[in-house]
Amino acid sequence: MKLWAIRAPKKLAEDTRRMLLQAGIIHPEARVRQENEYILIPVNGKPDPDELAGLAGSETGDNLTIIEAEFETKQKKPSLEDKLGFTPTFDVVGDIAIIDADDPEAVRIAIALMEFRKSLKVVLGAASPVEGEFRTRQFVVLAGEHRTHTVHKEYGCRYKVDLAGAYFSGRLGNERQRVADTVKPGECVVDLFAGVGPFSILIGRTVPGASVIAIDKNPAAVELLRENILLNKVDNVRAREDDARDVAVELEHRADHVIMNLPQSAREFLDTGIRVARDGGMVHFYDITHEDDLYRTSWELIQDAAARQGREVECVEKRVVRSYAPYQYNVCIEFRVT
Ligand code: SAM
Repeated sequence: MKLWAIRAPKKLAEDTRRMLLQAGIIHPEARVRQENEYILIPVNGKPDPDELAGLAGSETGDNLTIIEAEFETKQKKPSLEDKLGFTPTFDVVGDIAIIDADDPEAVRIAIALMEFRKSLKVVLGAASPVEGEFRTRQFVVLAGEHRTHTVHKEYGCRYKVDLAGAYFSGRLGNERQRVADTVKPGECVVDLFAGVGPFSILIGRTVPGASVIAIDKNPAAVELLRENILLNKVDNVRAREDDARDVAVELEHRADHVIMNLPQSAREFLDTGIRVARDGGMVHFYDITHEDDLYRTSWELIQDAAARQGREVECVEKRVVRSYAPYQYNVCIEFRVT
């Protein structure tokens, strides 16, 4: 293609290129080329000679010429989307990508992800929904190394994760940070469904003087939680392998914050959560609800549970955390207990 260009002696090529780059006038699609002792830099439109002289300074400017010349188009590096012909949906945890194993294009997507996302070492296909009491899922390895474990970095913390053995989602990072921001120095937090520890450890690391009791029933999750406490050097997070229901009596009225991140069935644990909260304590309650009833039923259940415990509740905030399935949302209701 024929374009306007700046012709510069080779010895001024780099300075000229930098100056034109700063001015934002280098043509993005044409390839710079040499001609004898000169370099030709394609530009967007015909430059004004005075402006060019102003940009270059008199010494360099005197050596530059404005010409028209033929240029080749740069070969654009194909993207993942170019390769596949569509934008794939995938989650990333550490160096593992997770896609839907039932996608007819799963293997092609997995191979393309390995080629275009150099930080990925494994592509897993999720072969079941998140299921069961421990909220785990089955995976098949579609590409890369044969493993389901990795280390995930989030908000300055590192988490050892084994996706086949214990729940972990990389999509909740902002939510964890948001909850951590509500905890004040010195407060006591009970994380009833702690998993490998992403809420607990973030709070332990970032809130001075906070103390966290992190509970999970899944032995595999608690083993990773203990490793993550060491990995992140937090000495104010205590891990416990337990059923959340069984801690209610021992931890009664102890917590300034109770985290109830078991959206599929946290409703069944409302009595426990409320009992563990001290007067004025805050419960961070997660639920899955239909778009026609985002908060109403959840709030009624919270009030019923509070009444059973002889306590009062006041809603502090309610919000949608993310969309969960068609017409269904993962919501959070934060309420104070008195
Ligand atoms: N909060 C963690 C996170 O953000 O990664 C884990 C959330 S995961 C949705 C819920 C966790 O609750 C799972 O790790 C599961 O093992 C645990 N769990 C399920 N039932 C439990 C119970 N009765 N008592 C304690 N933990 C339980």
